[in-house]
Amino acid sequence: MRTANLSGRLVIITDDGTAVDVEQASDGRFGPDPQGVYERWSAFRAWAAGADLSAGRSFAAEDLGSPAPAPRQVLAVGLNYRAHAAESGFEVPDTLPPVFTKYASSITGPITEVRLPEGGNTDWEVELVAVIGEPAYQVGEDDAWLYVAGLTVGQDISERITQLTGPAPPQFGLGKSFPGFSPMGPYLVTPDALADSDDLELGCSINGEEVQKGRTRDLIFSVPALIARLSAILPLFPGDVVFTGTPAGVGMGRTPQRWLADGDVLVSHVQGIGELRQTFRA
Ligand code: ZN
Repeated sequence: MRTANLSGRLVIITDDGTAVDVEQASDGRFGPDPQGVYERWSAFRAWAAGADLSAGRSFAAEDLGSPAPAPRQVLAVGLNYRAHAAESGFEVPDTLPPVFTKYASSITGPITEVRLPEGGNTDWEVELVAVIGEPAYQVGEDDAWLYVAGLTVGQDISERITQLTGPAPPQFGLGKSFPGFSPMGPYLVTPDALADSDDLELGCSINGEEVQKGRTRDLIFSVPALIARLSAILPLFPGDVVFTGTPAGVGMGRTPQRWLADGDVLVSHVQGIGELRQTFRA
């Protein structure tokens, strides 16, 4: 199943690409709030499996918001692909990867304009994002997929000067939380709707030039491994978001380094889910 946030309302995306309004199709049993549905995710899944989805309508992708627009917690994982750890000049983490937050005010939908922070070095990081669907605390890795509502595409846009300011550990949370720095979407796709939720191609391009390409089978800590390790420490709430890390190819790791510039168009994709499109403005 694919769901989305269409102009602030929860919709199901049908196989033919139309949107069915959940509140209308369920006669009000499920409300319109795209964030609230995760509190009742299993009941929603059960209803949706038998629902009449014939009343879909077409829509413009520009009207999509984040499938998780207001999570209580955003957990983001660093150095979770070996080649990216190497290009960043760090050791590969063994027991626990670095974890930081992207503040929720930076979350947007999939198609946006993003203002480049003045004097900054703004970089790209395409990531698979997992959205939690059940309260998860001290969950075993073998069961962890059961706690995932679905997967979506994310960009962990990062201003490197702010991020690396100050003594270690530096300002990851702030450097990655300028307005518009956490686009997500276009859809939430349930794990069962993907051919292999543990092996998805992801990548991004700038003005049509491919800059990142990887596969989630190369994650050092897989989605279930992350949920097990994160939930060992703190409870994950329904609707929480986990940015799972980026593959190699970011601008900071290049020689010479490269940063996003006025007019650049960044297109990010995850196989089977869809794509994001960010246009950057000075
Ligand atoms: Zn990242």
